[in-house]
Amino acid sequence: SASHSAPRQSLGPRLVKGAAYTFVRPEPIQNPELLAVSPAALASLAIDPASVSSADFRDAVSGDKIITFEGEKPADEDIYPWAQCYGGYQFGQWAGQLGDGRAISLFETTNPSTKIRYELQLKGAGRTPYSRFADGKAVLRSSIREFVVSEALNALGIPSTRALSLTLAPDAQIRRERTEPGAVVARFAQTWLRIGTFDLPRARGDRKLTRQLAEYVAEEVFNGWESLPTKVPSGELKDTAIEVKRGVAGKECQGEGEEQENRFARLYREIARRNAKTVAAWQAYAFTNGVLNTDNTSIFGLSLDFGPFAFLDNFDPNYTPNHDDHMLRYSYRNQPSMIWWNLVRLGEALGELIGAGARCDDEEFVNEGVRKDWADELVKRAENIIDKTGEEYKAVFLAEYKRLMTARLGLKTQRDSDFDVLFSELLDTLQALELDFNHAFRRLSGLKMADVVSEEQRKEVAGILFHHEGLSGLAGSEGDARARIATWLDRWRTRVIEDWGEGDDADAEREAAMKKVNPKFVPRSWILDELIERVEKKGEREILNHIMHMALNPFQEEWGWNREEEERFCGDVPRYQRAMQCSCSS
Ligand code: AMP
Ligand code: MG
Ligand code: MG
Repeated sequence: SASHSAPRQSLGPRLVKGAAYTFVRPEPIQNPELLAVSPAALASLAIDPASVSSADFRDAVSGDKIITFEGEKPADEDIYPWAQCYGGYQFGQWAGQLGDGRAISLFETTNPSTKIRYELQLKGAGRTPYSRFADGKAVLRSSIREFVVSEALNALGIPSTRALSLTLAPDAQIRRERTEPGAVVARFAQTWLRIGTFDLPRARGDRKLTRQLAEYVAEEVFNGWESLPTKVPSGELKDTAIEVKRGVAGKECQGEGEEQENRFARLYREIARRNAKTVAAWQAYAFTNGVLNTDNTSIFGLSLDFGPFAFLDNFDPNYTPNHDDHMLRYSYRNQPSMIWWNLVRLGEALGELIGAGARCDDEEFVNEGVRKDWADELVKRAENIIDKTGEEYKAVFLAEYKRLMTARLGLKTQRDSDFDVLFSELLDTLQALELDFNHAFRRLSGLKMADVVSEEQRKEVAGILFHHEGLSGLAGSEGDARARIATWLDRWRTRVIEDWGEGDDADAEREAAMKKVNPKFVPRSWILDELIERVEKKGEREILNHIMHMALNPFQEEWGWNREEEERFCGDVPRYQRAMQCSCSS
């Protein structure tokens, strides 16, 4: 035939139909060098730290051999690595099949004490059927960033995929804007499934795979169908007063509501709830993902895919770390609505299942799908469930955000007025004066209430508290800045005293509580840049362990390494290095 002599399309994108994954082996690295390991990850995976120096460990985390951590079992024959197939909406547009283009999962492993099961995966270990036009590799630069931030988020209490190790591939000449060394990150998560995993079978009209995936998620990723939420916990919705108005909670979700809400709807709600909590934590700690496409949104509510992410320096809600995000779609302030946008796509992918009510398991429905005479009803039900889940998402988000902000501000109780008077006014002030978000909370922690009694004192404190370089040269006049902060400090002091009382003991107790939730160290972009420079260009190694140690213990006062360096990494962000942006090439 005519096409016979035409070049086969072997390098370009190809579709892998009807599959959720493909078996594929990692590509061995030439001269791998194990650069660093996360001690916290070793603990989570129940790996003996002594084994890190073994050849088996190095071979396992570099992709040289397929070896499980569970011991002697040479898994080469038993276990075959795989890459996942998924699709996604990128910047709001359907992008078709994507898949793990440079991530290869090796095996699952369960921690015997926590009973948590993780899927171990190598990132940057070579091409897969999902690599499309790319090389399947990861540069050292982006691998260092992922290695540190995964563990930093987890240490801050923010659900995240994790990182076990960082291996340098010194000889890999990876072509990006320049030629760069490569690396492999061994990473792990309870699941690597994402909303994009459901987008793809939906786009292909693959009803069977959609159902299989949903059942797999409920039964294997979560703790079974019984573990999924039925009624919305009362109290959670009290602030937003939507409980009564919209009927999110109560009857409709149970009993006679079974007709309305089947187990797939409960699965959908659980996924939404988890993501709501995670975004709330991002907002409370000013973390921005930068590329919140559906393929980067976890089904388990984990922070996922660390490309051009960043923690905010000075508080600017419009900040996006993504240099190419001209529309600010993935800016800090948009994160909660973007995650919801993605969850609506998931609701649509699950639409037929959640809309089917009690009929979801009828043989006829399973085999043949929706009958014409009740299709309209099904669509209405699915839409209704998505809407109601949206209200629940908002309520869970707000409750979690308030919980975290209340703790960060050192309060024990929540008042209706706190939201406007304390949270919003602080944020507005930080924004207007271009002050640092995370440092503000840490510096407030150590403040003695006796030091902010008079207006004079408060104005004095304002100068040193929020910016060590002083308030002059910041936006607006210095006098106005001091006055504004002083007013806020007065209100805060009143609330603190209401909750804790006055005196040295009260100060000390509050300080201790605040320092457990307000990190001294956060891996800002400028720190990661310096780290990359020192590891890649200057050949330093120890610095990786120091930064990882700080990231794993962010609430400590000191880390017993080098006081001066520690303080520099915890100090004011150098002005010209604030709010840096990243290009996506990684
Ligand atoms: P991301 O922007 O990181 O979410 O990636 C989007 C898609 O591009 C995913 O399917 C990735 O696996 C794929 N991808 C990104 N970089 C590479 C690369 N260097 N080699 C192969 N696939 C890649
Ligand atoms: Mg991705
Ligand atoms: Mg990525």
